[in-house]
Amino acid sequence: MEVKQFINGQLVNAINNGSTQLINPATEEVISNISFGDKADCNAAIDAAKEAFKTWGKTTPYFRAEILKKAAQYIRDNVVAFATDMVNESGKPLAEAKGEFMVAANLFEWYAEEGKRAYGKTIPTNRIDKRSFTQWQPMGVIGIITAWNFPAYNPARAWAAALAAGCSVVAKPSEFTPMAGLHLAKALTEAGLPAGVLNVLTGDAALIGDAMLQHPQLKKISFTGSTRVGKILMDGASKTHTRLSLELGGNAPVIIYSDVDVQAIAKTAALARFRNNGQVCIAPQRFYVHEKIYQEFATAVSLQVAQLKVGNGFDEGVQLGPLINAKQKESVNELLINAAKENATILTGGKMPDHLSKGYFIQPAVVADVEQSSVLANNEIFGPVLPLFSFNNMDEVIAKANDTPYGLSAYIFTNLLKTAFNTAEQLEFGMVGINEWTPHGAELPFGGWKQSGQGHESGSEGLYEYLELKLVSMGGI
Ligand code: ADP
Repeated sequence: MEVKQFINGQLVNAINNGSTQLINPATEEVISNISFGDKADCNAAIDAAKEAFKTWGKTTPYFRAEILKKAAQYIRDNVVAFATDMVNESGKPLAEAKGEFMVAANLFEWYAEEGKRAYGKTIPTNRIDKRSFTQWQPMGVIGIITAWNFPAYNPARAWAAALAAGCSVVAKPSEFTPMAGLHLAKALTEAGLPAGVLNVLTGDAALIGDAMLQHPQLKKISFTGSTRVGKILMDGASKTHTRLSLELGGNAPVIIYSDVDVQAIAKTAALARFRNNGQVCIAPQRFYVHEKIYQEFATAVSLQVAQLKVGNGFDEGVQLGPLINAKQKESVNELLINAAKENATILTGGKMPDHLSKGYFIQPAVVADVEQSSVLANNEIFGPVLPLFSFNNMDEVIAKANDTPYGLSAYIFTNLLKTAFNTAEQLEFGMVGINEWTPHGAELPFGGWKQSGQGHESGSEGLYEYLELKLVSMGGI
């Protein structure tokens, strides 16, 4: 089987006939070959999207909404088949894969309606004979590059907003998880999306990214991935003036004050930290626990984490699959080795699970006695490691929490209202969860401060990333 690209309504091989292998991270076996295109495929897709935009950009949001809602239904109707492929390519547990496609469906439905609300305004002017108003127009062709950690959610979030806004799209899902994106494209096509409005490329990321930057008809790149690649795109965009929205890495602090129910939080923390194996940009990462409850929390969370079930995402009850690839596993192993050299203590996990012999697995780890200078505090871990730090007072913990170039999400646990607000307002992060682990949703703006990004996805803010504001002013009235 060959996974093909989707350009101008057709499934096609790479123009250079290149292909590469798609690997199942749980078994290390080849799932299939994927077309491996480059600049020529990207240019063909942009040309198709530009042509399609001529009509798509002039449809009403009501027309576009009907297609997006039908696509949402198609995803729901096919969730088992779609999720099965996602388990094969990403390794995540089947229930999580199904849940992710359901969230993707919700995003299409939510933006179907939100697209109808891109209101402009009339502005009172300084001249009696003049009338001025603003209106929002679709930008045109958008390049959307997304990471493998959420193979359906990442593309759906950006595609839904761009399509609802009336833009056409050239998408490049991750080379590790192309099937989920192609399934979303199938849903949109079955729902009646005209050929060329959405194109999906698989291939050489650097060449495709560069081709997007160089093409004058591509108006913006929406990118979800590492800060490293975000910077490459910013460099390129500084020359071509391509607009960017960037959803980059994170290094989320979790501040747990001493007044909380320690056992209850240890339980939910174990699940939240290890969701998708920690391969989540808003994953709670640096656990700052008040010194009064540090020991109790360390013991309780280690017990919880030791019970998490690791294995093939198809196996009953599995909560953690493998990491996405050998490189990611190596990077997490290296962090653990270096943390041990810094005299941190691994309380549980950190090795290949005993019952598994193949696949990119790591038994989820809890690491205590971690210093603020540690590799575990200063790198985005993107893996199954929960480092514990202790603190004594609010000023100290806020300074430590903000001591990172990242600024995506942060979490606070306390029952004291004043403590919660004072902490939330001083944190330099775009999303703050107070007594909750999920400060996100289709209706909520998702975006980072500092080196975690620019702009927003989801929420009404996400729609405006794909619209240009135009002022129309009329004189002589
Ligand atoms: P992660 O480490 O989370 O996979 P990456 O930033 O490496 O994040 O990848 C996110 C997306 O960016 C993927 O689709 C990947 O193929 C793509 N990508 C990688 N390198 C480049 C590049 N130089 N230009 C454009 N896109 C790239």
